Amino acid sequence: MAKKTASFICQACGAVHSRWQGKCDACGAWNSIAEESPAAVALPAAHRSGRKGRPIELQSLAGSNESPPRTQTRIEEFDRVTGGGIVPGSVLLIGGDPGIGKSTLLIQVSATLARAGHRVIYVSGEEAVEQVRLRAERLGLANAPVELAAETNVEDIAATLSQGRTPVLVVIDSIQTMWTDSAESAPGTVTQVRSSAQILIRYAKQAGAAVILVGHVTKDGQIAGPRVVEHMVDAVLSFEGDGAHQFRILRAQKNRFGPTDEIGVFEMTGLGLSEVPNPSELFLSNRDRGAPGTAVYAGMEGTRPVLVEIQALVVPTSLGTPRRAVVGWDPSRLSMVLAVLEARCGIKLGGHDVHLNVAGGFRISEPAADLAVAAALVSSLSGAVLPGDNVYFGEISLTGAARPVPHGPARLKEAAKLGFARAVVPDAKAKERGGKERDGGAPPIPLDVIGSLADLVAGIAARGPRRATRAVEEA
Ligand SMILES: [Zn+2]
Repeated sequence: MAKKTASFICQACGAVHSRWQGKCDACGAWNSIAEESPAAVALPAAHRSGRKGRPIELQSLAGSNESPPRTQTRIEEFDRVTGGGIVPGSVLLIGGDPGIGKSTLLIQVSATLARAGHRVIYVSGEEAVEQVRLRAERLGLANAPVELAAETNVEDIAATLSQGRTPVLVVIDSIQTMWTDSAESAPGTVTQVRSSAQILIRYAKQAGAAVILVGHVTKDGQIAGPRVVEHMVDAVLSFEGDGAHQFRILRAQKNRFGPTDEIGVFEMTGLGLSEVPNPSELFLSNRDRGAPGTAVYAGMEGTRPVLVEIQALVVPTSLGTPRRAVVGWDPSRLSMVLAVLEARCGIKLGGHDVHLNVAGGFRISEPAADLAVAAALVSSLSGAVLPGDNVYFGEISLTGAARPVPHGPARLKEAAKLGFARAVVPDAKAKERGGKERDGGAPPIPLDVIGSLADLVAGIAARGPRRATRAVEEA
């Protein structure tokens, strides 16, 4: 059991340290450790009373299992990420930077459900009821029968929730503002956030109401991050985006009731968040076709293909150590592509700064972008403009071989739909012969099949800077 002395808890990840230190060893955060009293950790009443356990009924693995009933919000991008709607009794955590639009999204979800006749309760610990009303009014949702409260004490909230008809959805905005009588630490500390979450989770399971917790991701570690409750909830969604772009992405990081690779795309407008059913069109708008260093990548996010433009700028460096700046992709993956370009294709980039950017602020998580990144890099270095109607996808191995990636047919179909005329891809037949994936019939657009990164480089070099300019003039 915990000792009676105070302990030092990292407010970012919840790791417990025996003494104060400037940096948390567990998560690497600086200045995130605060003193808290461990005796204050709230335990369920059963633990405290010391009662004997009672035997529970064990069941067999085989048996009928119904898929959980779900309540669809009819906001399709939201339902897709949750795995088909909200599961009764489940607890969902939505994390994201402050001001990114979490409250806006959830008030829209609440209003849609309430208008469909469901009981929805929205508890704001951040704003007064008037402020929430004002926001709803701005979004044109003021007439939705959502029940509002501005409260931060979890015991009071739980007592309120247990009255009347069981709500279908309860939104707690945010979990960091909640506090419980059972913990002695200050609101916003790990102990308070955890204990409050525990009480709300217990309520959700007992009452069968879905609870959504809002968690602000904080960089300064002044308040406990949502990471400390991630393991307790059924699903963790992150709401991403930045101030420079108007679109937002809802991404599932953990989901007990659905897939974790789906994304929902929204656009922030004056009337709140509107759904973006075809994100490729959004990401490919404002494309600069005549410039070298850009390649269109046909990616997959969950079950949905997403086309994005990859931009590279390779310039001679003025520094001793050349810069490697990446936005929207894994920097170590870029290092690997650069190393393979050097080792297998003789393209030396040690004297060049490399900037890589995924247009529109999108973030790619797949290694399938290797080929598109390499094409953009070589194009920028050589000055050869890539054909504007080509898409690229495929993985590059350390040997320099180009490897096929899953969902080739879906990527090609999306590219064809958006008017692309040709795809540069690894030899998918090799995979087909392995019996892994078989696409039915001819591809929707002609393929430039390459076997290795060297093939790709040779293809781009053949275009040459001159020829490329001519091609643009002709077009
Ligand atoms: Zn930590």
